[in-house]
Amino acid sequence: MREQYLKRGYSLVNTPHVMREQLWEVSGHLSHYADNMYAAMELDDARYRLKPMNCPGHILIYKDRQRSYRDLPVRLGELGTVYRYERSGTLHGLFRVRGFTQDDAHLFCRPDQIEDEVVNCLEFAFDVLKSYGFDRYKAEISIWDGGVSGKYVGTPAQWELAQNALEKAVARVGLEATVIPDEAAFYGPKMDFQIKSSIGREFTSSTCQLDLFMPLKFDLKYVDKDGTLKRPVCIHRSPL
Ligand code: ZN
Repeated sequence: MREQYLKRGYSLVNTPHVMREQLWEVSGHLSHYADNMYAAMELDDARYRLKPMNCPGHILIYKDRQRSYRDLPVRLGELGTVYRYERSGTLHGLFRVRGFTQDDAHLFCRPDQIEDEVVNCLEFAFDVLKSYGFDRYKAEISIWDGGVSGKYVGTPAQWELAQNALEKAVARVGLEATVIPDEAAFYGPKMDFQIKSSIGREFTSSTCQLDLFMPLKFDLKYVDKDGTLKRPVCIHRSPL
C-alpha cells in the first residue's frame, strides 16, 4: 500500500493516536460519534481521546501552512491505527473490531478537481480489490434527499456539484452504480463498494466520500488565482 500511495502522488504522514478532546468537538465527532469513542483521559492540561478516525489529524496538517490553488490537490495518506468502542455484540471477524489500521487518506482539492480525484480513487480501489482477489462487487452512490429533511449540511449548489462530479467520475471509469437517495453521509455524497463473503453476506469495503462539512468546521482555505480565499473540498477514501 505504501508503494501504491507514493506512486499515486500521496504524501505519507503519521498523526498522533491520542489528541485533545477539543479537536473532536470541532470535528463534530463528540456530538455524532461519541458512543463509539473510548472515554476521555485527563492529562496535565486537558482532556484527551484516542482517535476513532484520522481525518482531524490530516486536516491539521493541511492547515499548518498557507495553500495556494497551485498546491492542490494535497493528498495526505496514512496507514493510521484507529480505536472504536464497538459493543461486544457487534464485533465481527475483521469487519468490526475495536482497533484497526486503516489505509486512510484525505484529498484536499478545488471544486473543479473533484471529478479527477474521484476517478483516481476509483482506479485505486479497483486495483486494491483486484489484488485481494475480489473481482465481483457492487457499487453504490448515496446522495442526499434534496434538502427536504434538513439533516444534511451544505447548500443545494454544493450538493449538486459534488453529486455530479461523483456520477461523472463513475461514468468515466465505466462503472455501473446504483444511485440511492437519502443515504448520503450528513456531510456529503459518497460512493461505496459492496463485496460478498463466501456465504453470500454483503459487506461494504472500499469507500470514497466527499465532505462539505469538515473544511467549513476547520475553516480550511486556499488562495485562488485571483488572490481571494476559497474553501477546498475534502475527500475521505479508503480502498482497502
Ligand atoms: Zn476521513
